[in-house]
Amino acid sequence: MTRKHILTLCVVAGLVIAMTLKLTSHAPVTAQSPATPDQALAQLKDGNLRYVRGVSMHPRQDQIRRTETVKNGQHPLATVVGCSDSREPLEIIFDQGVGDLFVVRVAGNVGGTDEVASIEYGTEHLSTPIVLVLGHTKCGAVTATVQKAAVEGSIPALINQIAPAVDQARAADPKATGDALVEKAIRANVHKTMADLFQKSQIVRHLVAEGKLKVVGGVYDLDSASIEWLGEHPDQAKFLAH
Ligand SMILES: [Zn+2]
Repeated sequence: MTRKHILTLCVVAGLVIAMTLKLTSHAPVTAQSPATPDQALAQLKDGNLRYVRGVSMHPRQDQIRRTETVKNGQHPLATVVGCSDSREPLEIIFDQGVGDLFVVRVAGNVGGTDEVASIEYGTEHLSTPIVLVLGHTKCGAVTATVQKAAVEGSIPALINQIAPAVDQARAADPKATGDALVEKAIRANVHKTMADLFQKSQIVRHLVAEGKLKVVGGVYDLDSASIEWLGEHPDQAKFLAH
């Protein structure tokens, strides 16, 4: 065997190994509808960790999945409320595919009537066992509200929904200013959307009271891609008592 033959064999063997690894890493991961809220949350956390570590699997994004979800309908594992910010792409940051997330995206991840209706569709009709309200660092909508920026068109109506969260953050820490205040207001805004959801939706209150649904919050870091998990709303028991 000549040196050329050996080299060719090595290249072919290398290609086979590379293709096998690629096929393995991109193998579709079964995404059955999770039975419990905690299982759904664990799937979201696992997917985010893969994205953070740079080992995303990009599952369920092919023709087989499209056909399957058209034929059998959608059974997403979570309803996720996120900001419209282009740096918070929900399927990507949770390493999920077609039919996996029921997404509600709106600037400032607010909980107005349309958003609450969408969440009710995701939880009652599609039976997602988890609702995640996900704010993010450096949120422009929250920053504009904190800075009382001059806004036009329909934007003041959006800012008005965020303003109570900023007031709450200011009241909780009157000394906070600048970036520190924005950071606290982003967290308060996630909690406000969760509170709005509980207050506006009897459907969500019932599902949570029955243990079929969990509503949790989080703040996504635009730079590291990691999530500060905020858990359930601290006043959830009070909301459910109404
Ligand atoms: Zn934002």
